[in-house]
Amino acid sequence: MTSQTLEVNARNYRWMNRPVVVVCVDGCEPAYLDAAVAAGVTPYLERMMRTGANLLADCVVPSFTNPNNLSIVTGAPPAVHGICGNYFFDRELGQEVMMNDPKYLRAGTVLAAFADAGAKVAVVTAKDKLRKLLGNKMKGICFSSEKAEEATIAENGIDGVVALVGMPVPSVYSAELSEFVFAAGVKLMQTQRPDLMYLSTTDYVQHKAAPGSPAANAFYAMMDGYLAQLDELGATIVLTADHGMNDKHGVDGAPNVIYLQDVLDGWYGAEKARVILPITDPYVVHHGALGSFATVYAPDEASATQWIARIKEVPGMEFVLTRAEAAARFELPPDRIGDIVVVSEQSTVIGTSASRHDLSALEVPLRSHGGVSEQRVPLICNRPVKGIESSRRLRNFDALDLALNHAQ
Ligand SMILES: [Zn+2]
Repeated sequence: MTSQTLEVNARNYRWMNRPVVVVCVDGCEPAYLDAAVAAGVTPYLERMMRTGANLLADCVVPSFTNPNNLSIVTGAPPAVHGICGNYFFDRELGQEVMMNDPKYLRAGTVLAAFADAGAKVAVVTAKDKLRKLLGNKMKGICFSSEKAEEATIAENGIDGVVALVGMPVPSVYSAELSEFVFAAGVKLMQTQRPDLMYLSTTDYVQHKAAPGSPAANAFYAMMDGYLAQLDELGATIVLTADHGMNDKHGVDGAPNVIYLQDVLDGWYGAEKARVILPITDPYVVHHGALGSFATVYAPDEASATQWIARIKEVPGMEFVLTRAEAAARFELPPDRIGDIVVVSEQSTVIGTSASRHDLSALEVPLRSHGGVSEQRVPLICNRPVKGIESSRRLRNFDALDLALNHAQ
């Protein structure tokens, strides 16, 4: 088995000679790690960054959770795997539909390919929304912290998860939801020793707490202990993030929002433009469905061209692109984005209509993501890596390449 190489989505992966764990820390702006290390609360991460490989990579834009998690497990951009947000507008159906269903996935995962070839594979996610996509057509263990109690052999490849982990199932809005992922990962490594494991957390803490704040440092200190245990168990660990995270508010604490649907309605009348925010999902409490990326459907190409010129003039915009430009620049599936793609700059988010965003649930000034400003993420490994050319633009979806091809 050890000489075997698998080809998945036109990339080759070498068979592992020890367990490989890829960790996607949701919303892990690189500054979180730097601040935690500087504060001395993450001795294992400090060692990992010092003695292994401490790199930076670019995530996929839109810098949202699902497109990036799917990129990491397929080793490919959304143009290949098809998942470019939580939502898109299906023109044929005339409906806004969720992209959480595996039927929207256009590529197989590296995880499923290794499982098919005989590897023992395990996936643990914080939120259940990702579970079916990540575990699509994969033999092995796949469950979420959120629905850990409901895990069955038939559906998840494992049962008795709560007893195994020894931790109560946390609230979906908590730091503990991510801790459960790490605790489960360690227990799985101790009891089942998967050849390949993917752990994916939630950005509840990162949406609320800036790098270096007590809550953020406590989160990374928690993580540090579990990573150290995985290292002691002999795993090769690659840690990356789905996206970064930035403040999206003014000095007064109020969010900087461009309500793009209202803007376009004001210019051209109601019901001409359709603004879609692909960040929209069933869990909006911590970001109010506000991020730095939106896509706009126009009635025809001439309108789109005219609108682009005008949207570019709105203060706070960073990129306003045609469908073709956005598909090429960000490697997106053209049929699942609108006629216009709008990316706002670092401190600004894009909304639809003011009346459609409930900001009352935001307990702290808005921090969010979605734009190019959240594209830089850590890519670190607990072992030195060989054969990475210094000119190479690393992506977070090179995590498996790094772990399997360069860290052994
Ligand atoms: Zn995320």
